[in-house]
Amino acid sequence: MSAREREVAVVTGGNRGLGLETCRQLARRGFRVVLTSRNEQNGAAAAERLKAEGGNVTYHRLDVTQPGMIASLSKDLRRDTGAIDVLVNNAGIALDGFNAEIARQTLKVNFLGAVATSEALLPLLCRHGRIVMVSSGMGELSCISSTGLRKRLEDPSLTRDTLVELMQSFPRDVAEGRHKERGWPSSAYRVSKVGLNAFTRILARELRDQAVLVNTVSPGWVRTDMGGPSAARGVEKGAASIVWAATLPHDGPTGGFFRDGRPIPW
Ligand code: NAP
Repeated sequence: MSAREREVAVVTGGNRGLGLETCRQLARRGFRVVLTSRNEQNGAAAAERLKAEGGNVTYHRLDVTQPGMIASLSKDLRRDTGAIDVLVNNAGIALDGFNAEIARQTLKVNFLGAVATSEALLPLLCRHGRIVMVSSGMGELSCISSTGLRKRLEDPSLTRDTLVELMQSFPRDVAEGRHKERGWPSSAYRVSKVGLNAFTRILARELRDQAVLVNTVSPGWVRTDMGGPSAARGVEKGAASIVWAATLPHDGPTGGFFRDGRPIPW
């Protein structure tokens, strides 16, 4: 079977946790999966495991904070598959503590990494493609205490560039000790997911004419290295939420926030 006879799905942070399980479930559904990870050894080993389970899985290195690696993924995908059907922006970090540096690092992976990866792969996305942001219930807008800031984030005329500028003001506000006064919560993780959700709304609007569905998903609290052993859900159930959005029919929703295939509040 040639590459284009199967739908192609690219997953970031695919070497463990929800990313790996998403790759597994997509492979079981017949996708050609491009599993990416920042550590080559771990990612290649994960891809080999899925291949041994019968999946059509290839590996590509990708640290979502490295523009050169994003460009090389895009170039190699164009050569190897020509186009892609699904992008899952799953890579994420949740660092302990709170200061400007943690805010910067968290935004760099969870928000800017997803923005840069999406922008680079957009030209390869097929009509009826799907982009899934792996977000969190922690990213609900209600964590923003300022009505003005909430309104800016929800503004339907907000552009990608203005959103990026706004998000980059967060670490500066933290460094200057005025983030609370500006309405930001004292959680870099929350802010990064609020930004990811705002990016989802913008991209969904932009890609409506190309019939690309862009949605953001909360997988619930899941037992992974990030979620910890006490989390309520197994990785299968968390990843199923992501796979639901990655396999929506052509007339499926776009610009929404979902858990278990059901809308949840922004
Ligand atoms: P995890 O087990 O800690 O996995 C995180 C993944 O992200 C790893 O593959 C990690 O790679 C990768 N990653 C981190 N920084 C990266 C970078 N710069 N470039 C590429 N990959 C990078 O966490 P998880 O629970 O599976 O989380 C996956 C996603 O679900 C995250 O976006 C997280 O915010 C979200 N989420 C999780 C939960 C939960 O309860 N688990 C709840 C809500 C949302 P390395 O192995 O190289 O570190």
